[in-house]
Amino acid sequence: MKVLVLNCGSSSLKYKLYDDGAEQRAGLVERIPDGGHEQALQGVLDELSDQTIDAVGHRVVHGGARFADAARIDDAVRADIEACIALAPLHNPANLAGIDAAMARLPDVPHVAVFDTAFHARLPRRARSYGIDPTLADKHHIRRYGFHGPSHAFVAQRAAEQLGRPLEELRLITCHLGNGASVCAVECGRSVETSMGMTPLEGLVMGTRSGDIDAGALIALLKSGAMTVDELDHTLNKQSGLKGLSGISNDVRDIEKAAAEGDERARLAIAVFTHRLRKYIGAYAAVMGGVDAVIMTGGIGQNSATMRRRALQRFEYLGLLIDEEKNAGAQARHDRTPVVDISEDHSRVRSLVIATDEERMIADETRRVAGGGAEVQSEMPIPIAVSARHIHLTREAMDALFGPGSELTSYRPLSQPGQFACHERLNIVGPRGRIDGVRILGPLRPACQVEISRTDEFHLGVDAPVRHSGDVKGTAPIILEGPKGTLHLQEGLICAWRHIHMHPDDAARYGVKDRDEVMVEIRGGDRDLIFADVVVRVSPKYALEMHIDTDEANAAELPPKSEGSLVGVEGRQAVLLKRKAWPQPAGE
Ligand code: AMP
Repeated sequence: MKVLVLNCGSSSLKYKLYDDGAEQRAGLVERIPDGGHEQALQGVLDELSDQTIDAVGHRVVHGGARFADAARIDDAVRADIEACIALAPLHNPANLAGIDAAMARLPDVPHVAVFDTAFHARLPRRARSYGIDPTLADKHHIRRYGFHGPSHAFVAQRAAEQLGRPLEELRLITCHLGNGASVCAVECGRSVETSMGMTPLEGLVMGTRSGDIDAGALIALLKSGAMTVDELDHTLNKQSGLKGLSGISNDVRDIEKAAAEGDERARLAIAVFTHRLRKYIGAYAAVMGGVDAVIMTGGIGQNSATMRRRALQRFEYLGLLIDEEKNAGAQARHDRTPVVDISEDHSRVRSLVIATDEERMIADETRRVAGGGAEVQSEMPIPIAVSARHIHLTREAMDALFGPGSELTSYRPLSQPGQFACHERLNIVGPRGRIDGVRILGPLRPACQVEISRTDEFHLGVDAPVRHSGDVKGTAPIILEGPKGTLHLQEGLICAWRHIHMHPDDAARYGVKDRDEVMVEIRGGDRDLIFADVVVRVSPKYALEMHIDTDEANAAELPPKSEGSLVGVEGRQAVLLKRKAWPQPAGE
């Protein structure tokens, strides 16, 4: 399949042609005048006239809250991209001009929009909200969207391959440091924090953008009459960052040279840039409760050993140690050395320099969406079970809480084969409140796990991460009180990720596999509700059943014996659920 990737800026057009993943042609048209995209594209297509193009992938900067994935472009999708112009007045109009010109010239092939924001579209609420009244925020669409999605997603995947571990198990910090720059915390393959916000102006110091600045400073500048709104916009977006700080250039090569020759402002620019970056890396390690690898990419991340060195120094306390020699020589290039590990051999946290390739990611996404075909294959209903708060214990915990050698006794069997609810109960104690008489589920397990709902969390005064059952590493501490003793668990408290248990036969029927994330529409309640982010767990030991917690059941006003139907598989919903936006995640 031949995919043409188009990246239309306000005055430029970049293109790359891929043949089943192999880059065949690339080019750049610059200095396109207003209204000249059609002519520029004409030139590109004339140059490619010896090629049969099967699909076109368009980079679109802002997908707002509407797009959590790439989408095949039709009239409705086009209108939605147009509606996001207010959020990206410089970028989306140029992206649309490219889409219109390309669709006019190639009307018979699928066109796919790949959004910079989509990878971050389901940031947890705590990360996407600013500290203002949510009513005001909603009215004006003020929230954090995040950008550089294809780049963060691409290097995260590459890092997982390099580390030889599934992305779903990793905590990564990806630093895209180009002329625009952002950091992303990628936990279990999803963006949970990122430094750019409602616009690409927030966060790191960039080539010409200021990054974080006290909003009060802007109010002061405007009130004093020192600048008009347009001048302030221009100053913060075009005359700040490395360029503004150094007074020399937005290019790190020029600044590093001047700094080496003693230029004070050049030194200040480097110091502020790397200090800010280091601050974010430390913060994101804290957000994820640890980190497995830090990835450096983009023109600066891939090339500047000094910027990497300054940003990654003094992280020994995190278990991150840079090998000076490896770092000094490292330059990542797609065509030669796409991934370089610059860590000391015994460093627990790896530091990787990875060549990003946003166009390739856009081509892959285009192929996936245009290829379509991934219809959910069965309409078999899924029984829904509401799981109340409960506890799993280890042998040792059982001894400590109920006395040595004590055994669990079955109160009733559960629908999953071999599982049972017990007569035994425990009290859960948090810093703010307690919940007495919480049931234990048997049999005993290799790790203790306490599963509560969001409501329980606020009652207890704790912060429980959303996790898959069994995945308790680095989760929250909690106190358990039993008849014979009290146990201070260092970890094990979670809000369980909603999930569907499936036998392999069921999975085959639906056309899904273990750990796929799916969307389930719930019938039977007063409200039609779609749950996104439902994780499929496949095992020969499982019977078909979806588990949601009590909060979720209340939200859906679910009657007993409700059923759901699988309406989409993440990454394929553009095909399956054309008109429905993905709901926001359950997590705070
Ligand atoms: P990008 O937007 O990813 O293409 O990054 C462009 C920026 O990368 C330039 O403005 C430079 O600041 C930086 N850069 C590119 N090559 C080098 C290099 N060899 N050493 C240091 N910085 C570089």
